[in-house]
Amino acid sequence: MRKIAIYGKGGIGKSTTTQNTVAGLAEMGRKVMVVGCDPKADSTRLLLGGLAQRTVLDTLREEGEDVELNDVRKTGFSGVLCTESGGPEPGVGCAGRGIITSINLLEQLGAYAESEKLDYAFYDVLGDVVCGGFAMPIREGKAQEIYIVVSGEMMAMYAANNISKGIVKFAEAGGVRLGGLICNSRNVDFEKDMIEAFAEKLGTQMIHFVPRDNIVQRAEINRKTVIEYDPGHAQAEEYRTLANKIENNKMFIVPKPLEIDQLEKMLIEHGLAT
Ligand code: ADP
Ligand code: MG
Repeated sequence: MRKIAIYGKGGIGKSTTTQNTVAGLAEMGRKVMVVGCDPKADSTRLLLGGLAQRTVLDTLREEGEDVELNDVRKTGFSGVLCTESGGPEPGVGCAGRGIITSINLLEQLGAYAESEKLDYAFYDVLGDVVCGGFAMPIREGKAQEIYIVVSGEMMAMYAANNISKGIVKFAEAGGVRLGGLICNSRNVDFEKDMIEAFAEKLGTQMIHFVPRDNIVQRAEINRKTVIEYDPGHAQAEEYRTLANKIENNKMFIVPKPLEIDQLEKMLIEHGLAT
């Protein structure tokens, strides 16, 4: 089983890209589990056809410790297994703890057992800083493989650079590696060149350039991935391509994060120097 975590700045498209890519893998016949690691609990909405899922933390709060796998795991599009960690009550407790609690519970309940025959577990993780509970999937070897969703916007690249620093820290102790940058386009000028150059500087690859397309929002409003909502659309094909590239990826590295002035210099050279 491959365990993959998706990181990136808030709003960059982690949940959308993860679910569409997972839908692509499921179409290829892979058995996939998605664990939402964001208190927003919207990591599986498109696969489940709505926010049909009670979160792990809510379930534990309401049912006590006596829960079964089916209480916290639902089956969505093409057999994808979906769990949402959830978060603490607002203002109380650390959101990162929800992730730790959820993954531990899933392990106890046998969600990762051989008999489940999983090909992939995906973690869709909130935030640009790999700290505390949000680092949990990579800190404790829950995920071995990271993809960072990024765009040509400076803050997205800044976040990707910070996440890379987090990966370096945990790569020394564990086996976690960066598998690549996924560029989720914001239609920034020279975006593709810039992200390719950024990836090269980090020592990784831009594994795929996902175009920006309104079909993504149209599918979203219908609570579906593009692959389910409009399987013949060019955007669906982009996600299938990304799924294939991940399936066949051989490039796993410890990144070399940039100094801030290096990052700014690169932005000027590749994007802003018109
Ligand atoms: P995150 O999980 O990183 O916070 P989301 O996946 O929720 O971000 O995406 C934020 C918004 O961006 C969503 O409304 C989604 O529909 C939109 N979006 C994501 N990717 C694309 C894309 N390639 N084209 C158009 N809209 C997109
Ligand atoms: Mg999200």
